[in-house]
Amino acid sequence: MKNFYPEKYKSDSLLEIRHNYLPEQFKNSAEILDLISKVVEIGDFTLGQSVDEFEENFAKKIGVEHAVGVGSGTDAIFLTLKALVDQEYGEKFEVITTPFTFYATIGAVATANFVPVFSDISIDDFNIDPSGISSKITKNTKAILPVHWAGRICRMDEINSIAKSHDLFVVEDACHAILASYKTRMAGTFGSAGCFSFHPLKNLNVWGDGGIVVTDSLALANKLRLLRNHGLIDRDTCSFFGYNSRLDTIQAVVANYLLKNRIDEITNSRIKNSKLYDDGLKEINSLKIPQRHTQLKEVFHLYSFLAENRDSLLEFLVRNGVDAKIHYPIPMHLQPAARKYGYARGDFPVAEYVTQNIISLPVHEFVKEDQIYRVIELIRKFYS
Ligand SMILES: *Cc1c(COP(=O)(O)O)cnc(C)c1O
Repeated sequence: MKNFYPEKYKSDSLLEIRHNYLPEQFKNSAEILDLISKVVEIGDFTLGQSVDEFEENFAKKIGVEHAVGVGSGTDAIFLTLKALVDQEYGEKFEVITTPFTFYATIGAVATANFVPVFSDISIDDFNIDPSGISSKITKNTKAILPVHWAGRICRMDEINSIAKSHDLFVVEDACHAILASYKTRMAGTFGSAGCFSFHPLKNLNVWGDGGIVVTDSLALANKLRLLRNHGLIDRDTCSFFGYNSRLDTIQAVVANYLLKNRIDEITNSRIKNSKLYDDGLKEINSLKIPQRHTQLKEVFHLYSFLAENRDSLLEFLVRNGVDAKIHYPIPMHLQPAARKYGYARGDFPVAEYVTQNIISLPVHEFVKEDQIYRVIELIRKFYS
């Protein structure tokens, strides 16, 4: 099997209004490269000082006690589940989650040796519908894993109250939702732990892979610090055999720079661009734009909505130079990877409907206002 990324990067770069903005974002990176060269000079590549600094700054920004840097967003979820739940060999505990997510959410559950149990989403926000969760709980259920899809926080009051009455952990997949908030609280602070990704196309993006777990529990943070680094208390003492999933010092430098200098601006321009799309698209009857709520600060990792004739619209937009995309066309329970769990088409009608009708538009900080108006014009033309 061949690496499919290089050709995809090439074909995507030919479009005019692109989804991928990384060459623009890091065009002038002298400052970051300077900071990195200091790491290279002293060589503290694994869990160096910049990792500690970034963890402290990130925790402060989100409003939690502890943050533990790890190798990726996937590992953030994986390690958190491992840290929270003690498993005897062969025990098959269940984690309730959404069928409408990126593969990594389910990959983390499955590779951590849990059974993903899906519960359908709501048509209003594309997030797990709390009203369906209780009926999925069994004596083997250990956790609920809500995903704040596209940067919109799930209905956490309801999810937390279900979790509390059944004594379950809540692990938030906040990979889309850095700086998203509900009332006064930020994504990642509602459950036992919040998991973030710094993948190059996430809102806070490093030059490779990275992730972090936030929590108010010192015990959980300590367990994660051991798990990510071979179970080592110190160089010569291994308290249990763990994993190697550390946030690279070099990536921590990039993350820290963006956290200090860029993330607020990045977030605000995504919100501003989404407002322009909202205003331009809400009158079009063939579209269903999610309703916005003043208590929710959505951070628009994706700008997505439901569209009639979705596949033709997508093709029309791409033909006109707009890198519209489908995130994602097949729900998790219908992936070949999920066959062993025994789900069938029709099991999660809302998720299935959404995957067949959803489309996303470029919304990042490098999409210009006139480009947004052009996209809106194209969509109007398509439906007229
Ligand atoms: C990106 C993503 C992840 C995983 O992040 P990586 O850093 O790429 O491992 C997990 N969940 C969701 C919803 C994501 O979009």
